[in-house]
Formats: sequence, structure tokens, C-alpha cells
Amino acid sequence: MDVTLAGLAAGLKARRFSSVELTREALARAEASQGALNTLISITAESALAAAAVADQRLARGEGGPLTGVPMIHKDIFCTAGVLTTCASRMLSNFVAPYDATVVAKLRAAGMVMVGKANMDEFAMGSSNETSYYGPVMNPWDLARVPGGSSGGSAAAVAARLAPLATATDTGGSIRQPAALCGVTGIKPTYGRVSRYGMIAFASSLDQAGVITITAEDAALALTAMAGFDPKDSTSVDAPVPDYAATLAAPLAGLKVGIVKEFFGEGLASEVEGPVREVLAVLTKLGAQVREVSLPSLPLSVPTYYVVAPAECSSNLARFDGVRYGYRCKDPKDLIDLYKRSRAEGFGAEVKRRIMTGTYVLSAGYYDAYYLKAQKVRALITADFRRAFGEVDLLLGPTSPTVAFGIGDKTSDPITMYLNDIYTIGANLAGLPALSMPCGFAGGLPVGVQLIGPHFGEARLLNAAHRYQQETDWHLKAPAGFKAGFAP
Ligand code: GLN
Repeated sequence: MDVTLAGLAAGLKARRFSSVELTREALARAEASQGALNTLISITAESALAAAAVADQRLARGEGGPLTGVPMIHKDIFCTAGVLTTCASRMLSNFVAPYDATVVAKLRAAGMVMVGKANMDEFAMGSSNETSYYGPVMNPWDLARVPGGSSGGSAAAVAARLAPLATATDTGGSIRQPAALCGVTGIKPTYGRVSRYGMIAFASSLDQAGVITITAEDAALALTAMAGFDPKDSTSVDAPVPDYAATLAAPLAGLKVGIVKEFFGEGLASEVEGPVREVLAVLTKLGAQVREVSLPSLPLSVPTYYVVAPAECSSNLARFDGVRYGYRCKDPKDLIDLYKRSRAEGFGAEVKRRIMTGTYVLSAGYYDAYYLKAQKVRALITADFRRAFGEVDLLLGPTSPTVAFGIGDKTSDPITMYLNDIYTIGANLAGLPALSMPCGFAGGLPVGVQLIGPHFGEARLLNAAHRYQQETDWHLKAPAGFKAGFAP
């Protein structure tokens, strides 16, 4: 009952508990788990209890919607007025945003109660949450392993049942990969579906906000509240937002599911492949038709991404110069010294690596060879997807090539780390919506399956995921030592 956001909302309506009680419980869990998991950068107890009291008044008047009074966590990449927003970087370790991101404002207006801000990879660059200035996040399924990244704090917090919902962002897989490694559900919407206003930019043509939850139903409820046109984000799309919860139960009869051939080759752990293939049996039982499809340019997605994303990041991160806000070095000799040392001291190693790569591929002599070439390959990858969606409704594959790996295992080799994103990056390059959900375990660690849809196909993705979750209970498993539900 109280394992999901929808269940909690029903409990609040029926007065089985109040929002203040739920919020106190979430705050207590947050405090108690910090030492072991380090999922949060800030815990916002005072403002949370105040928001919960307001939510209780709304509920008492019979007002409020399906999210009102439910505790949640924002990834620390979203600006929150009056609350520290660090992006897990020393560069922003003293930055208090003067305004709310649109996503923050929308979920606040829906009555959600923010209890804290989630740890993440520095500026969302990473696949293991090990690049955070605030230290790594531990995977609740095995504390010696990573939770994935960059939204590792969001995924681990939901998996450990601190709150039923955390926001996250996905530039190359940062919602789906940590969701897979932590055994929770995560959706990255179509590029432009959710406003990026107030979401600190990494790679602007790829970044998109979404959510991590226990169930697809909860993701549908949250996405309905988050999505939509925003005049403050010129890349947000002016198209009506469907009620994603309304179509969750639609039958899957006749749904055409494409298995992406390129996702099942070398590099995929057999312990991951097994559970992912078993999903097909469940979908077939529900009436789906499965066939293989090929996306021939997809193997080029990792090198393409690691040209495009650093190029955009080198431009976006130029604004952090130690002058107007953020970290500033001590006793600069002159302006140049201030710029140089503030950036040298404020950014971590991975961020610097990306800025340097990006600056290089955009430089006059190399632009055509790297950046322009990558943009052309990006167009080929997008065309592959377009062709595939002429034949099938959804694509299916693994989310990550392996289960959660050990903390420290891949930090000395960036290329090995980058290869974690091999199955997730394609959807970002093409701007497509994609979802990851739990589909089994390998050696006691969660395995995730990925569904990719055509542009604005979120409703179908959530529908297929919901129907799958009605047939299975992988998504309801909680790691040992953590409660299964959320109620006090
Ligand atoms: N892991 C990828 C990277 O390091 C993706 C990160 C993301 O989606 N924010 O860039």
C-alpha cells in the first residue's frame, strides 16, 4: 500500500497519516542513512516540515492532487530558491540560487514536499557518482558498489526508501543507468518535453529532466505534473501534456516491440542478458509481438557522444569564472590569476578532462575533423532510430552492460567508465524518450531493462512498463536493511 507514491497519496487522503508525519519519517530516514549511503548533499528539514503543514491544510480542505503532501528529493542540479545548489562541485559549494527551476516550481505547486537535495556526479559528468566533491554514494544493495551515475544519489535514495520520488537528469544515461543499478524505475522524457530552466546545463542539446520512482505509475503521475511548455526554455516544446496515468492500463495487444540487435553483442554480461530476454516472454504473454531490429550506426554512439557532450560542456562551463558567484580562489594577483586559479581549484579532474576535450574538438584546426564529424554521425544514429520506429512501436534492450561495479574499480580508466553508457547514449543523441525498470537480479544485484520510444512516446513507454509491473514484482524488492514501504 505505502510502497508507492500513489499508495501514499491514498493514505494521505484517507488520513491514515499526515504529510507532517510522512515528512518526519522521510527526514529521519535521510539523517539515519547518510553515514552509510551519502545520498544527499542537503537535508532541508525546516522548509520540508513547513511545506508539509501547508499540504496537510490543503488536504484537510479536500484540495490537492495526487502528489500533494508526498515527500521527495531533488537532484542537486536543479536550482532551489534559498537552498544550496551545488551540482556536487566545489565550484558551486557556496551557491544559493535566487530562483526555482521550473521543475522545482511545478512539483512544489503540486504540493510535493522537498526533504533534501541529492548527491550526483560533479556537473552530472560520470557513470558512478564517484566524481562528486561531496564523496561517492554507496549502492544500498551492496555498500561496496557504486549506485551508477550521474543521478546516483537520486536512485540510491529511492532504492533505500528515503522518498518515493527523486528528480534526475539524463544527458547520456544518468537517469536510466543508476535506476538500473539500484533496482528502481527511471524515465528520461523526449528532449524538450520538460523545461530545462534552472537545471544547471551540462550539454544543452542532450540534457533532459525526468524522475526516478518505484513504479511506472508513480513516474506517470510525476511526469504529468512536470512536463509542458515553458516560455523560459526556448527548447521546450509547445505541445499539450497528456495525462500519462490515464493510459497506463491500456492493453498491449498488437504492440510491436523491437529487440535491438546491436544491444546484445560483445560486452553484455550474460547475467544481464538473461533477465532482459525474459522480459520478452512477459510482454509476449500480454499480447506484444517481438521482432529483431538493427540500428547499424549505434555502435558509434559512445565516441559521438564523447565529442558532442564535452564540446557543449566546455562552452556551458565557461560561465564559472569566480567573478559573479561560486567558488573564488584566495588572494588573486590579478584578473587572469583569479580566473585560472578559481577554475583550477573549483573543478574536479573529470570536469577538467571534459572541458579540455571539448575545447580541443571545437578549436579551429580540429572542428571539422571531430565536432562536425560527430554531428554527422549523430544524424545517422537519429535516422536509424527513425527507420526502426517505422517498423516497431518500442525498442527493448539492456540499460547497462553489467550490474553495479565496485567503488574505485573504474576510476583510473575513463574509457572503461564511458563504456557504461553504451546502451543509453543513443536515445539522448536522437532526443528520444527512454525508460529503465527492474527485471531481475544477478548475484543479488538488480538488473534493468530499457525501453526506448519514438519522440513524445512517453505514454506508450509508461503503459508497457506499468503492464509489465502488474505481472512481476522485481520493482517492489527492497535492499536488505531498508524498509519496503514509506509510511511512518
Ligand atoms: N555517464 C555519462 C557521462 O558521463 C552521462 C551523464 C549524464 O547523463 N549526465 O557523461
